Amino acid sequence: MSNIQKIGNPARQSNNLLFKRRSILKTLSLAALLPVGLGAYPSGIVIAADGVPLPENVMTPDAALKRLLDGNKRYVSGKISVRDFNVNRAILAKGQNPYACILSCADSRVAPELCFDESRGDLFVTRLAGNYASLDILASLEYGTAVLKAPLIMVLGHTDCGAIKAGMKADKENVDFPGHIQTITSELKSAVKEGVKLPGNATDNVAKENVRLNVAKLKESTPILRQLVADKKLMVVGGLYHLDTGKVELLT
Ligand SMILES: [Zn+2]
Repeated sequence: MSNIQKIGNPARQSNNLLFKRRSILKTLSLAALLPVGLGAYPSGIVIAADGVPLPENVMTPDAALKRLLDGNKRYVSGKISVRDFNVNRAILAKGQNPYACILSCADSRVAPELCFDESRGDLFVTRLAGNYASLDILASLEYGTAVLKAPLIMVLGHTDCGAIKAGMKADKENVDFPGHIQTITSELKSAVKEGVKLPGNATDNVAKENVRLNVAKLKESTPILRQLVADKKLMVVGGLYHLDTGKVELLT
C-alpha cells in the first residue's frame, strides 16, 4: 500500500503526508540536486549568464520584510511607483528571483503586487480562498524558497473575508457547502474554533488566527522550510490586509 493510500485523500491530509518517510526522502533528494550557486538551476529555469535576473532582489529576510512594508506604505499613501513594463521584460524572460513569497486569499480585492507596490519578478504569489497552506501551496512555497531562494514568506489574510465567514457559518450552523467549497471551510475549522473566543470583530479575529496558524505550519511542517528557517535563510511572517485602508497590519 502506498503512503497516499494509507492516509486517504492527500488534499485533506497534507500534514500527515508531509511526514511520510517517502515524501521526505523525495524532497530531500530534490534539495540535494539543487545547486548552491547561481546560474545552475534545474532544466527549464534559465538565469542570465552574469547572475540573477534582478540583483536588487537578493537580500536578507529582514530587508525583504522592510521592502514589502515600505511598498505598502507607498500604496496606502497613493505615492506608488510609475512603472514601464517594457523595462526588464527581456531579462525576466530568461529567469526569476523574487524576493518574497506571498500566500494570499484569492479575494479579488486583495492584489499582492499592487498592495506592496511591486512589479513582475518581485513576488512569488500563491493564492487560494482562505489563504491556508494546502499541500499544493506548500509545494509551491518550497519551490519559491528552496529553488528560487526567496528569503521571506508572508501569509496574507484580510478583513471581511468571505472564506472566513463561510467557515464560521459552517461551524455555527453545521452547514455543508456545495461541491468542493466544503474543503475550504473544513481547512478553516481550527482557526474558527480559536478566533471566535476572542473579543472584538469575530470575522477578523478568525482571519488573524488563521494567519497565525498557517505561519506556524509553514515554519514547522516541512523539512525544507523548517531547515531554511533554522538556517535563518527564510523568515515566515503573517499580515492582515485592511480592505478599507489598504494597509497591511503585521501580525507575527
Ligand atoms: Zn478572503
